[in-house]
Amino acid sequence: MSQREAVIEIRDLHKSYGALEVLKGVSVRADRGKVISLIGSSGSGKSTLLRCCNLLEDSQKGEILFNGEAVKWAGEGLGRHPADRAQVTRIRTNLSMVFQQFNLWAHMTILQNVMECPVTVLKRDPKEVAVLARQLLDKVGIGDKADNWPAQLSGGQQQRAAIARALCMQPEALLFDEPTSALDPELQQEVVKVIKDLANEHRTMIIVTHDMRLAADVSDHVIFLHQGRIEEEGPPETLFGTPKSERLKQFLSASV
Ligand code: ADP
Ligand code: MG
Repeated sequence: MSQREAVIEIRDLHKSYGALEVLKGVSVRADRGKVISLIGSSGSGKSTLLRCCNLLEDSQKGEILFNGEAVKWAGEGLGRHPADRAQVTRIRTNLSMVFQQFNLWAHMTILQNVMECPVTVLKRDPKEVAVLARQLLDKVGIGDKADNWPAQLSGGQQQRAAIARALCMQPEALLFDEPTSALDPELQQEVVKVIKDLANEHRTMIIVTHDMRLAADVSDHVIFLHQGRIEEEGPPETLFGTPKSERLKQFLSASV
């Protein structure tokens, strides 16, 4: 497998909610083992772009490729939707998402949360999944919380459980939507540390974040979205060190 192989590639994607065009021709590629960060003001389309990647949202124009395989579409314009359910499932189970609000299932223990999708969706052997789940909880530093309920954990611990849950699907890439934004500053760092560990292991990741230090530290490539378009993109040293567009300069000076 070549180093330059894209796990996810988005080409000229257009997405509207009714009359509101939210993505106006966006292209992104996440090569295997690379970390892409998406930054930009609230409302610029970051979450929408992430949700289009794993087909949680439909889009009206442009292509989405997973491991070089193009999503097959049916219909046109606002009626366009993925045509092949098996393909959607394959893509979605290979792109695990971590949300701002953790979204753990409150009525399941931490261990059950981590095991649920591999067992019910992937039909994997529960005994094997339990072993992996415990390893992953250890890896994110909450092995001792396996039998607790989500409400018994701090926000930082819940988010680390959500990351273990995403990893337990053994996905090809991880999608993070502002993973630290709901956390108090002192709890953000424990989640940042886990994300840095994953970057060091060369996991393929797309990270939407408000944390410019995180973006600078872990990314191979940073994309600045403004009003549904890529205003500027590049390696973090360039984007943060010598921003070119006035909008990015303004955004960065407001972010510190
Ligand atoms: P970001 O994540 O960068 O803050 P979003 O992708 O959430 O931005 O939103 C981009 C734009 O799309 C905003 O104007 C938002 O109000 C709009 N939007 C997002 N989700 C929906 C939806 N489900 N229905 C209608 N408009 C939406
Ligand atoms: Mg968002």
